Amino acid sequence: MHEWTLAEAIVESLNSFVEQNGRKKVLEVEILYGEMMELDTDILSYAIEELVKGTVLEGAKFSLKEEKALFKCNACGATWDFETAHKMLSHEFGILEEPSGARESPLHFIPDLAQALLKCPRCGSRDFEAISGKGIRVARMVLGR
Ligand SMILES: [Zn+2]
Repeated sequence: MHEWTLAEAIVESLNSFVEQNGRKKVLEVEILYGEMMELDTDILSYAIEELVKGTVLEGAKFSLKEEKALFKCNACGATWDFETAHKMLSHEFGILEEPSGARESPLHFIPDLAQALLKCPRCGSRDFEAISGKGIRVARMVLGR
């Protein structure tokens, strides 16, 4: 599963970082994950908890924070967020309103679709990039002695 694969990658890289720095203990780790990843944070937390057992990371306090998605136009420099992207899709395709009233965007499932479906709200260019909200990274780590 997606979450387990990510948790493994995070735990492995943290463990090797801590070991390379000759530390024995980690107190706190803050992880930022992109809004567009649509992660199940319960599964991710659980996976991390399981994977750190028996490593220097055991006992560290992990916190997961969402990083908001932000798109930036390479043509005019405009930036816009995920919500605006949703509205643009909704406006342009009319595919987001489900009978139940629940709104689901295709962006949630396939972030790469953003590139194909969206354009800059200011100048209409399709030359833009997601400057945040796509990946996962360690934002902060507190090491013990
Ligand atoms: Zn633009």
